[in-house]
Amino acid sequence: MSFVLERKIAELAVKRASRLAKLVADSHDVNSITKPDQSPVTIADFGAQAVIISALKHVFPNDKVVGEEDADDLRKDPKLRETVWNLVKEATSHDTFSNDIGVIETPEEMMDAIDWGNYTGGPKGRMWALDPIDGTKGFLRKGQYAVCLALAVDSEVVVGAIGCPNLPIDYKSKSENPETGVLFTAIANEGAFQTPLFIDGRRSTKIEFNSINSAAEATFCESVEAGHSSHDTQAKIAKALGITKPSVRMDSQAKYCSIARGDGDIYLRLPVSATYEEKIWDHAAGNVLIREAGGVVTDMFGNKLDFGVGRTLKNNKGVVAAAKNIHPEVLAAVKAATGN
Ligand code: AMP
Ligand code: MG
Repeated sequence: MSFVLERKIAELAVKRASRLAKLVADSHDVNSITKPDQSPVTIADFGAQAVIISALKHVFPNDKVVGEEDADDLRKDPKLRETVWNLVKEATSHDTFSNDIGVIETPEEMMDAIDWGNYTGGPKGRMWALDPIDGTKGFLRKGQYAVCLALAVDSEVVVGAIGCPNLPIDYKSKSENPETGVLFTAIANEGAFQTPLFIDGRRSTKIEFNSINSAAEATFCESVEAGHSSHDTQAKIAKALGITKPSVRMDSQAKYCSIARGDGDIYLRLPVSATYEEKIWDHAAGNVLIREAGGVVTDMFGNKLDFGVGRTLKNNKGVVAAAKNIHPEVLAAVKAATGN
């Protein structure tokens, strides 16, 4: 089965949400609220989740959605609700997508859309995984962040769309061409593509991993936040592999996008905590993108990521993504460094 309509709707929804995020980044003072798990959330997270889920509800009313945010804060705080509502209205008036993905009519509809993302997850049926602003810390520091949406069917990720507003359109010529904003998409068995996010009418181009012969030639990517993955263990692994280039640190699933198009080669995410469970919305869209660009993603034990066990990847630990030919070598170094 092909998922052409799903990809089209995911692209439009991610574009709309990315424009919303950019509006916030460009023109508002970005304040964040601290959630109970100590992670930050901004008006852009709420607005982006609302516009994406409303688009999904418009076209695929029977699909389930696992989204990172909920509308509790907006229901309690009329001023915050009003600010997010004004943002959603402003963002949706700037595009021509309403025939395809509709618009949100009222603040209540906006909050209902956000709360539609409360699905508990599971192994069967159609389920979207949404991180409205992945890398909120990167968003706040004007670094990399990503709007990430994926469709899984019976636990397999089949469509992914990732908007990266701050990623250079062409990394290799970024000093001559500093333009940023890239939309990445993939459909299972149909390839991975990129297209400019904020320039309409450009054709998408196919992306693939660099061809390198051994991991020693690689550039590896990791989180900026030392609290999200172990920089120390990752440095040990890189050394064992003979990697001499410094790591590229960036927030969000922009890491998956960067290696999928050959800006880098390996993404390492080794756990810092024995109890943390990775969230499915932090990995679903990147998963299909990597596979379709010629890569392999596993956990630190070499197991496939299991998206069918709830809102987290509770059957997995860590993430190792690399081109198909070097993944076994990287995994062996991970196992040696971590004693698994
Ligand atoms: P990154 O930008 O790659 O560092 O990842 C951002 C994501 O890290 C956020 O969306 C969080 O869901 C996730 N996160 C938060 N705490 C942890 C943790 N202790 N280990 C791994 N990921 C985490
Ligand atoms: Mg995230």
